[in-house]
Amino acid sequence: MFDAILIEKAETGQTASLTAVDESRLPEGDVTVDVAWSTLNYKDALAITGASPVVREFPMIPGIDFAGTVSASDNPAFKPGDRVVLNGWGVGEKHWGGLGGKARVKGDWLIPLPQGLTARQAMAIGTAGYTAMLCVLALERHGVTPEKGEVVVTGASGGVGSVAVALLAKLGYSVAAVTGRATEADYLTSLGAASIVDRAELTAPGRPLARERWAGGIDAVGGMVLANVLAATRYRGTVAACGLAGGMDLPTTVAPFILRGVTLAGVESVMCPKPERLEAWSRLARDLDPAKLEAMAVEVPLADVIDTAPKFLKNEVRGRLIVPVN
Ligand code: NDP
Repeated sequence: MFDAILIEKAETGQTASLTAVDESRLPEGDVTVDVAWSTLNYKDALAITGASPVVREFPMIPGIDFAGTVSASDNPAFKPGDRVVLNGWGVGEKHWGGLGGKARVKGDWLIPLPQGLTARQAMAIGTAGYTAMLCVLALERHGVTPEKGEVVVTGASGGVGSVAVALLAKLGYSVAAVTGRATEADYLTSLGAASIVDRAELTAPGRPLARERWAGGIDAVGGMVLANVLAATRYRGTVAACGLAGGMDLPTTVAPFILRGVTLAGVESVMCPKPERLEAWSRLARDLDPAKLEAMAVEVPLADVIDTAPKFLKNEVRGRLIVPVN
């Protein structure tokens, strides 16, 4: 038996509880992992609260990421004792996930724990941080270098945003951090932000083209904020968009694209091909300051996960929430 968060379908909706689960109920897969750490990402909060239809099969153990140690393997790439990390692939949505003591998955979904990172650090990064790195890689691919000028990060005090700010600052970029919480200004400055932008500056409908302010950006928010960031992106700049914390819509015009050659680079972490995952994780091990990573990590016991999840939807979460599972 192992302890897990279990989401079940009830007639009135869904319920989530901390439950002892028999190992014989684990789903199909060729590798079994003793989960050491998992995390709470925005998507996990949607799954646990049922605010969005993230969970596709019931009952479901949520948790879109985990780090742990292989306990059994029929996959030639892994043997018992190997330390591994998982992000995405529908885990915690269609396949039982990381918020339980054991997980059984396809070995193809696992990557080795990157050299130089502990399991705890890997989960302090988690899917939010790995996605922030995918965004940084997208900016680099599109030629947004530190010399091009200031870059902007939206949703800056959240999980993706915190890691993005710390990474970009370490890489030599001047970072403008957009936040709706003035109280987080010191935190963002400590992560390396050079300036703080009040989110309210970007939430009202703006002109199709605004003053050219940023050479590029990482957006975790979508909606009007992303539209205004695009309008204020410099000639031939790139914005990597990965999130919808502020809304699914994008009320923009084609002006930034056709008059300034701006690129909107979409970033998707769930089905991202393995070579790019490995690149992102090896860059995270190299380019993220461990002290800053520690400063953004907050431990949440498994028993408190269900009560903590709604905080994401109320914009009350700072940094990364990590869950010690075993
Ligand atoms: P968090 O909740 O930790 O961070 C989101 C941040 O967005 C908040 O901290 C807040 O920052 C800001 N925010 C919240 N509400 C609003 C609002 N109404 N309007 C504008 N800004 C708002 O979530 P994560 O960092 O875990 O995830 C961020 C987004 O990225 C989510 O939408 C998530 O689904 C998405 N995501 C996508 C992935 C992909 O594969 N594409 C992978 C991982 C995440 P502040 O208070 O500083 O303003």
